[in-house]
Amino acid sequence: MSIATGLKTYPKLAENYGHTIEEIKPALCGLKIKEKEFLTLRGVSFNNVIFTDVGVSGPYIFKLSSINAYKKYPYEIKIPLINPESLKEKLNDNPKKQFKTVVSCFIPNSLANILIKKDKQAANVSKKEIEELEFLTLTVTGPDNKGEIVHSGGVNLDEIDKNFKSKIAKNLWIIGEVLNIDGFTGGFNLQNCWSDAAICAQDIVKTLYS
Ligand SMILES: Cc1cc2nc3c(=O)[nH]c(=O)nc-3n(C[C@H](O)[C@H](O)[C@H](O)COP(=O)(O)OP(=O)(O)OC[C@H]3O[C@@H](n4cnc5c(N)ncnc54)[C@H](O)[C@@H]3O)c2cc1C
Repeated sequence: MSIATGLKTYPKLAENYGHTIEEIKPALCGLKIKEKEFLTLRGVSFNNVIFTDVGVSGPYIFKLSSINAYKKYPYEIKIPLINPESLKEKLNDNPKKQFKTVVSCFIPNSLANILIKKDKQAANVSKKEIEELEFLTLTVTGPDNKGEIVHSGGVNLDEIDKNFKSKIAKNLWIIGEVLNIDGFTGGFNLQNCWSDAAICAQDIVKTLYS
């Protein structure tokens, strides 16, 4: 028999056969944030990030959610905003323009409006003000509960052999997301499931006919 049930629906099946389930956590998901002022930006996107009604999502955030899957909430994330050298150059080239106008060449206008509280002429912008716009720092309070793409955790990999056969239960193979394997976006999770299945199927046939 093989267990290929995915992770969220029925991890208990493998547990019933004596396997250990490493703690299951959402990964590749949007994140809820503490800073309420950014929630007015719902739908605005920049640098592979999109603001939502509860926080942030998009490919860059998915990656951070995966890396931090086991981190305790709340935690801080830093999203790259504007390269300080590029901003400095643009401000120097346009000394009479307003700070917000120059910053809006790099990030959405609505985001610039929140980040720059007091507008001023480009010539008067300090080094500190430039550096403060290098990253957007946000406090993550949890996953956004809008549906994660994969989960971290699952059946302990030490408990299966290289053909995905259980070392604990007889004639049992375990494959796919139910295992403690998860990758970034880009098809790695699907490829993992397909490759596991191919190797497992060959091993089942070998076992049946040997
Ligand atoms: C919205 C979304 C987008 C995604 N996009 C990508 C992507 O772009 N690239 C990528 O690599 N990965 C992506 N993934 C992740 C990828 O789809 C999963 O990692 C992969 O499908 C897991 O395959 P699996 O066969 O292990 O489990 P699943 O595809 O979850 O299949 C498990 C099957 O087992 C069945 N089942 C569960 N419990 C039982 C039971 N007790 N008895 C009988 N049957 C049962 C379920 O009904 C289901 O049909 C995405 C996932 C989601 C949700």
